[in-house]
Amino acid sequence: MQAVKALESNVRSYSRSFPAIFSRARGSTMLTEGGRNVIDFLSGAGALNYGHNNHQIKAAIAEYLASDAVVHRLDMATPARLEFMETFSAFILRQRGLQYRFQFTGPTDANAIEAALKLSRKVTGRQNIVSFTHGYHGMSVGALAASGNRFHRTGSGVPLSGATFMPYDGYLGPGVDTADYLQKVLMDESSGIDCPAALLVETVQGEGGINVASKEWLQSIQALARNVGALLIVDDIQMGCGRTGEFFSFEFAALSPDIVVLSKSLSGYGLPLSMLLIKDGLDAWRPGEHTGTFRGNNLALVSATAAINLYWRSRTFSQGVQRMGELARRRLEAVASEYGNSFAVRGRGMALGFDCQMAEIAAATTCKAFEKGLIVERCGPVDQVVKFLPALTIDSKTLNQGLEIFQESLAEALIQTGSDPKKETSWPTRPSNMRSPSRSSPSP
Ligand SMILES: *Cc1c(COP(=O)(O)O)cnc(C)c1O
Repeated sequence: MQAVKALESNVRSYSRSFPAIFSRARGSTMLTEGGRNVIDFLSGAGALNYGHNNHQIKAAIAEYLASDAVVHRLDMATPARLEFMETFSAFILRQRGLQYRFQFTGPTDANAIEAALKLSRKVTGRQNIVSFTHGYHGMSVGALAASGNRFHRTGSGVPLSGATFMPYDGYLGPGVDTADYLQKVLMDESSGIDCPAALLVETVQGEGGINVASKEWLQSIQALARNVGALLIVDDIQMGCGRTGEFFSFEFAALSPDIVVLSKSLSGYGLPLSMLLIKDGLDAWRPGEHTGTFRGNNLALVSATAAINLYWRSRTFSQGVQRMGELARRRLEAVASEYGNSFAVRGRGMALGFDCQMAEIAAATTCKAFEKGLIVERCGPVDQVVKFLPALTIDSKTLNQGLEIFQESLAEALIQTGSDPKKETSWPTRPSNMRSPSRSSPSP
């Protein structure tokens, strides 16, 4: 790790939280150069929903490469590109009664968010974007303007403008419907909030702390967007591709977003691939208006097609994810109840969060977990939530092993930080407003 420190910019972050050199990986396990096997509950922040080096997807990539098929060709048409769009339309869209056009953007998720924001401004002729407290949409300036995290916002170096933050579902406590507030200010000609081009929302906030929006709230937000002539953009970058149990995270609420942003696990193999799904009639782009060198890389399209064919042609996979998610959730709830429910468990499907309430407990827990052979990350405004994103293809034995390590690590962390609620009556009284000093960069 000394060599990494000498060569790589100070901006690196995950190599600090998980100080090892990772040489190989398969499914839910990674192997370090030191010969240690570690279970991966981070899954590339949700980019590896089908596990590392998924053999069946790899076979499709290997076959494509071996045939000398076209890998890079800007956005010229190829059989791989066509096959992806046809397969996605048949097994993802049509099966759900959805109809969208595809826009492949530059390979980062943030570039897809930029495209979505541009398009909604273009379509409506308005500038303001309504985004939500604790929302995370990426690091480029436009996407960052719609992201809440102050640490990241400060890094921009220029004023971040064009977005208004509204309270996410639950932000003001269980008694307040924040959609009512949003309705009030958007309908009020003198609220000081400009008419939005779009409402940009995650149905479960990943980086923001695994905050879960309810079906009713999401439906209110969608209705409100329609009422005020704004587009509804769902950022399904982290929560899409099966993470919450269904392919799209908004299916449970029967939403029909105007634009859906997909990336992270879209390629199925950790290859970069980002795209927008755009409703018919909203495709207002002029040819080449949002361009980029690496839009819809063919290798990533081949693996994305393979992933759909493997997992999404029937409901079986989705049902399995939901079952496994239930299992994990029950186990985490059992751990929380051991501590008199001082901790909260949140999430949907296989996106789960264990809110330690205090940053130092979460930090000590994930640090100990790594020593014991588990990669698990933190999220939330002060990194106080331990975030579980196991591969959707994980077997129950490995899942339980990982959860066992988490449970032991939490118990030790509570002793180490002197905050075991089983033993102390005064807990929790310390404010959770301190970022743990060991972590200098909180998000992907
Ligand atoms: C990861 C993520 C992004 C940004 O992705 P990059 O590839 O890092 O640009 C945007 N939105 C959500 C919800 C994400 O999880």
